Amino acid sequence: MNRVPVLLAGIVLLACFCPTAFAATIPKPEEFLGFEVGTDRRLADYDQISAYFHILDDASDRLELLDIGDSVEGRDLWLAVISSPENLADAARYREIARKLADPRGLSSEEIDTLVAEGKTIVLITCNIHSTEIASSQMAMELAWYMTVTDEEPWTRVLDNVILLLAPSINPDGQQMVVDWYRKHLGTEYEGGRMPWLYHHYAGHDNNRDWFMLNLPETRAVNRVLYHDWFPQVYLDIHQMGRTGPRMFVPPFQDPIGVNIHPLIWRLTDLFGTEMAVRLQEDGRRGVIDGFAYDGYWPGGTMNTAWWKNVVGLLTESASVRMATPVRIEENELRGGRKGLPEYRKQVNFPDPWPGGWWHLRDIVDYQMISTGWVGNSSCVPGDHSPTGASPITLNYVNLRLFYAKSARTAPQREGGHEQDQQGQAWAR
Ligand SMILES: [Zn+2]
Repeated sequence: MNRVPVLLAGIVLLACFCPTAFAATIPKPEEFLGFEVGTDRRLADYDQISAYFHILDDASDRLELLDIGDSVEGRDLWLAVISSPENLADAARYREIARKLADPRGLSSEEIDTLVAEGKTIVLITCNIHSTEIASSQMAMELAWYMTVTDEEPWTRVLDNVILLLAPSINPDGQQMVVDWYRKHLGTEYEGGRMPWLYHHYAGHDNNRDWFMLNLPETRAVNRVLYHDWFPQVYLDIHQMGRTGPRMFVPPFQDPIGVNIHPLIWRLTDLFGTEMAVRLQEDGRRGVIDGFAYDGYWPGGTMNTAWWKNVVGLLTESASVRMATPVRIEENELRGGRKGLPEYRKQVNFPDPWPGGWWHLRDIVDYQMISTGWVGNSSCVPGDHSPTGASPITLNYVNLRLFYAKSARTAPQREGGHEQDQQGQAWAR
């Protein structure tokens, strides 16, 4: 059995990550790699990750692998489209519905309701834009495998109602570089150290500062997925942070927030983040924080840009290890000192501080599996304010698009705006 079901406990264990008979025909990542995802000092490189996703593509009718473009060095950027076999067979239709709903001007209310009810919520998950934040590129293999084999609720409901778009690395050149570097120095005094050159040919770590100008081919490829081909309504980007603070950040974000982003986007973002935090806590994962460090103002990176386009933009940041080498953090090394956590101690947005100890790559993978997996569940909550039972996520997205289309024609946007909302005129349609 895959390690995740052993680790998960309580409600989460009952609800998820229980493979079925399909597992016999779809190889687990460890059957291909020769080691379990998250094993100390073992990393899959991009060639292996690509090969494994091709195996899943061949073996499963729940996953289809798309080539969405080339990296600077010419590697293929892969996007795994994961959903029920019926949904994948109709993927072109769902893309077309999403395209129409992304620009709903001219559609009648009835047409919109029908399209929302017929469509699927589309969720984009991107991993490893920062290449040394390596865990998500590994986790992606396990998450993809799990979604191809599970026969359990709520995951079958997710497969029926949601189309997951999973990119295992959106900087494949850097992924390959840092794994090569890690392997080269394994067992030496340099094990787990940083490379002395950039992990993106042009931009290094600033590959996630490119999203307002689209200089890099990797940025353009993901933006095509976002705003030209799939129009996801939810976007999660997965990162890692320093090792001596909280174990994981989930939304809500910190202040300041972009004043021209609709308040409903923040409320929905909070809802998704809160489900992540609840599920992690149910599973006994300590040290999760929200309202910390990462603000809702900066328009330069991945999912941040999506807020201005009425997409629920989500971020997680996990405490790092030294690539795949575990670290031990003593209690007196734990630090606050960033926005939302002046001192490292229990507070309302950080109710269960991690007490210190060993921290492994597998810990990061586990936190990411839980938080990422439940985004699918949050995305397919059945509608309770639509006569058709349509997804409230998609419905809100469409209504916001209409609202801004109308307000752009009729009123100048003012700082701290949304006056129409505050006067009770919530929607344009
Ligand atoms: Zn990062």
